[in-house]
Amino acid sequence: MTDRSRQAVLLFGAPGVGKGTQGKALGCIPGFFHFSMGDAFRSLEPDSELGQKVSSYTSRGELVPDEVTVQLWKQTLEEIEESDAYRPETDLLVLDGIPRSVRQVQLLSPHVEVLRVLHLACGDERTKEHLVERLRKRALRENRADDAKVEVIRRRFEVYRAETQPVVEEYGPGVVVDFDPLGTPAEVLQRILSVVAPIQRDLTHKAAAAT
Ligand code: ADP
Repeated sequence: MTDRSRQAVLLFGAPGVGKGTQGKALGCIPGFFHFSMGDAFRSLEPDSELGQKVSSYTSRGELVPDEVTVQLWKQTLEEIEESDAYRPETDLLVLDGIPRSVRQVQLLSPHVEVLRVLHLACGDERTKEHLVERLRKRALRENRADDAKVEVIRRRFEVYRAETQPVVEEYGPGVVVDFDPLGTPAEVLQRILSVVAPIQRDLTHKAAAAT
């Protein structure tokens, strides 16, 4: 099996827009596997060399270097595949928080086929202020050091605009689908499912036909 047999959709959007909530919800449905890059970083041993290196970036709201990120992504995913929790022949991979730069798109492309970019598009400044507030509340709830300081949150938005937003152009209009991220988690999930459920069904049918 080539690595490109992994088929994925990418949850994409500004910090705090709800990628994690949607990713977790999708990951509960058989046939979907949710992979969060932020969670992979947070599960590193804090005192390990890699853990320390990663937190020197996340604590400032900066992106972890591309090579380090993609290497950890690949290694973690391979371990998950070996444990059989994710089966590329039948499961649609839901990528959350990776790729987050144009270079990461290039580094990932030999290993996964991104079928759709699910762009949770937040428009105006008012929405942004709402997201900053959401992140501050989440930081308290989940004990996340990176979002406890407003300066770090603002830096994360700048990094998103400068380094992450250009990812959309890499995939192009046929792949990118814009979603309204406002509403209840269930309402947003319903919008996303209208796009991803048929993709996952096709994957299941293809796998069944191949056996
Ligand atoms: P959010 O859900 O708020 O968008 P994440 O939990 O996905 O945030 O990520 C937290 C932090 O981890 C980011 O601010 C960044 O420092 C780091 N990070 C996550 N994904 C990547 C990535 N693909 N490349 C580089 N750094 C990343």
